Amino acid sequence: MSLAPPKKARAVIIGGGISGCSVAYHLTALGWQDVVLLERRQLTCGTTWHAAGLIGQLRATQNLTRLARYSTELYHALEAETGVATGIRRNGSITVALTPDRLEEIRRQAALARAFGVEVHEITLSEIAERYPHLNMQGVRGGVFLPGDGQCDPANVAMALAKGARQRGARILEGTMVIDLHRSGGRVTGVSWRRQEGGETSEGRIETDIVVNCAGMWARDFAARAGVTLPLHACEHFYVVTEAIDGLGRLPVLRVPDECAYYKEDAGKMMLGAFEPKAKPWGMGGIPEEFCFDQLPEDVGHFEPILNDAVNRMPMLADAGIHTFFNGPESFTPDDRYYLGEAPELGGYWVAAGYNSIGIISSGGAGYALAEWMDKGAPPYDLWDVDIRRAHPFQRNRRYLHDRVSETLGLLYADHFPYRQPETARDVRRSPIHTHLMARGAVFGETAGWERANWFADPGQPARYDYGWKRQHWFDNVAREHEALRTGVGLYDMSSFGKIRVEGRDACRFLNRICANEVDVTPGRIVYTQWLNERGGIECDLTVTRLSETVFLLVVPAATLHRDLNWLRRHLDEDTFAVVTDVSAAEAVFCVMGPRSRALLGAVSPDDFSNDAHPFATMREIEIGYGLARAHRVSFVGELGWELYVATDQAAHVFEALADAGQDHDLKLCGLHAMDSCRIEKAYRHFGHDITDEDHVLEAGLGFAVSMAKSDFIGRDAVRRKKDEGLKRRLLQFRLKEPEPLLFHNEPVLRDGETVGWITSGNYGHHLGGAVGLGYVPCVGETPGQVLASTYEIDVAGTRFAADVSLRPMYDPESERVRS
Ligand SMILES: Cc1cc2nc3c(=O)[nH]c(=O)nc-3n(C[C@H](O)[C@H](O)[C@H](O)COP(=O)(O)OP(=O)(O)OC[C@H]3O[C@@H](n4cnc5c(N)ncnc54)[C@H](O)[C@@H]3O)c2cc1C
Repeated sequence: MSLAPPKKARAVIIGGGISGCSVAYHLTALGWQDVVLLERRQLTCGTTWHAAGLIGQLRATQNLTRLARYSTELYHALEAETGVATGIRRNGSITVALTPDRLEEIRRQAALARAFGVEVHEITLSEIAERYPHLNMQGVRGGVFLPGDGQCDPANVAMALAKGARQRGARILEGTMVIDLHRSGGRVTGVSWRRQEGGETSEGRIETDIVVNCAGMWARDFAARAGVTLPLHACEHFYVVTEAIDGLGRLPVLRVPDECAYYKEDAGKMMLGAFEPKAKPWGMGGIPEEFCFDQLPEDVGHFEPILNDAVNRMPMLADAGIHTFFNGPESFTPDDRYYLGEAPELGGYWVAAGYNSIGIISSGGAGYALAEWMDKGAPPYDLWDVDIRRAHPFQRNRRYLHDRVSETLGLLYADHFPYRQPETARDVRRSPIHTHLMARGAVFGETAGWERANWFADPGQPARYDYGWKRQHWFDNVAREHEALRTGVGLYDMSSFGKIRVEGRDACRFLNRICANEVDVTPGRIVYTQWLNERGGIECDLTVTRLSETVFLLVVPAATLHRDLNWLRRHLDEDTFAVVTDVSAAEAVFCVMGPRSRALLGAVSPDDFSNDAHPFATMREIEIGYGLARAHRVSFVGELGWELYVATDQAAHVFEALADAGQDHDLKLCGLHAMDSCRIEKAYRHFGHDITDEDHVLEAGLGFAVSMAKSDFIGRDAVRRKKDEGLKRRLLQFRLKEPEPLLFHNEPVLRDGETVGWITSGNYGHHLGGAVGLGYVPCVGETPGQVLASTYEIDVAGTRFAADVSLRPMYDPESERVRS
């Protein structure tokens, strides 16, 4: 009889795949006692046992790359620590491009890898052929080699992590299924388990206030039972392994993303894996309870197109017999990123799941980061990309997940074009004027399920994206929209804004503790502010409008709404009387911006929009058409303008009134690409890119929005300290001197010839006449003058372009236009 689970634990980890084993390993490494891992069957029996074991260090962001690199180093060290052979091999990886677009992409990735400190070499065609003699070089245009990449034995890595955890006291119990989760007062209180041994069933309960859901493809349904949103869905994932091939020799991992394929040599055999464009979702009705080291039925027809290309690309496959045709399920998420962190719905409910076929390379780092987060109350660095709080409740819908993951699997190897939009499971959340915008040529993108007009096609122009790395076919459309915002009047729809109402007797006191700026202002005033953490990092970037003595409206990005709601609720204590309500769907938001916005509004409203009657950073209720709206005088494009908050029932009417009057004022409908192009000229920061929870508010250049006159707010001490110590880095604005190249984000920044950082957000500055970006530059002990005196270049796909640099916005540094 195996050991019975304990009655109490400090933390219970659910699931003994690589994710759960890594969390157990890292919690115990931090000295946590009474850590229990419960696995329903056997360790690794879910997805982990059959992974291909590719180890690729370069990920989409610096911090995810840091985690992947951490995994690589850990898996090397584990063997010595635990005595379990992890099969890790640093044989490098090659990615080849078959198209000009892919070549541009891998060159951009190589430049980024260098900025992130990952060794990478662009290699010539003859070097590719030399390193991979079996490859048919027909159509190959170039490639990159990452010597630090490689491969491992996934199940053994998981077993080594489990052994390491056990050695430090973790209790790992197999054959023990968690069947229920207990909670009280919004917090986890325990789990119930069941096990079957020798024909006997036993059940029990463990009291704990911390669980970690590492249940892989089972994780979604288990989370849903506790009201936790964990949007993932299993997909069938295929590879084949050949019989032994004579003289194959040691080879690096090879990726041919244009043919959706990767190749791994292992023990004299060749593995060919696929990321096909249309994947097969699996297990929509739930993952079978009895699944244990199982595989799914072969589907030769589905795999055939990949195999045909592969036989051409790697001719030796034609003669090699197929030893294994493997089809195994893996969890995929709507945005191809995994989930880490504490669920916003339930205190003490942590998550590490949804790995999108990179769970082996990710789990080492993810386990480290999650354990740090659980231990210290904050992640070791910004992990917003994978934060569970980015999930939206509607994403629990299984049909949505089913349809979306059929696309996301293939997107891993698709061209990662800038502005690329998902094609599946669209149209879930729409503005009340969606059809109006569509009828006028809007081309939509998706954020947090919202359809948002990104740009407007001209009559006769196809209203769709054609992607590319150079100027896209909508470049001139956006230039004209930009021009209207700068010189005339434009309207863009921001109904997707997250809107949070905070009201009650203590609302002002409560918000003043959370906001770095002073929000105890007269009703009608609008305050731009950040929420800081104890390190001075930025948790949220928002406006706070005081609607009355006791009611405030907080306007936040659509994507961060649940993170922001969670931050508020976490800081509400029992002695504070304030009610927090998500009112996002209650109002549409039309941004009427540009020097002629005053004239347009004057044509649809009897109210006074003069500076005296309606100054900058104030809100007024206005009559508009036959309806009412709140006009907020703020701007994210750096021009005179108003955001109109309109009850959704009146939104279409108000839009029609504006559009009618707009005919006499050359009103131009604009999309969010033009908005973003204007905001980057004005150097307004974008949350998640330019400012994150690891970016200090002073280094981000937002000290003007911090009120040190307030005696108490979260992060005040960190601001004080930074003022005393001096800045270590500064956010600068760059503009390429050459007008042609484009910046998106992640392009390396070189100072006097040395890589010092990368562009955190970029766009084309149609008014400034070149690509514009923001990025941090180290500046320890330097004056602003010294920082600006250097020569700056930006590396775009391996070519360096000279850049102008500024600490103040290059467009309208005195902000005269917004106040005009
Ligand atoms: C064909 C294929 C190839 C892949 N190749 C690679 C690769 O090359 N590189 C890479 O990085 N990744 C790869 N992956 C992805 C990788 O295998 C997964 O991301 C990873 O194994 C996920 O680990 P996990 O711990 O989250 O899930 P799992 O390994 O599925 O572990 C979850 C565990 O939870 C247990 N469980 C579920 N519910 C309960 C419950 N109620 N109580 C107790 N226990 C429970 C399950 O039994 C299971 O053991 C591949 C995946 C596939 C399918």
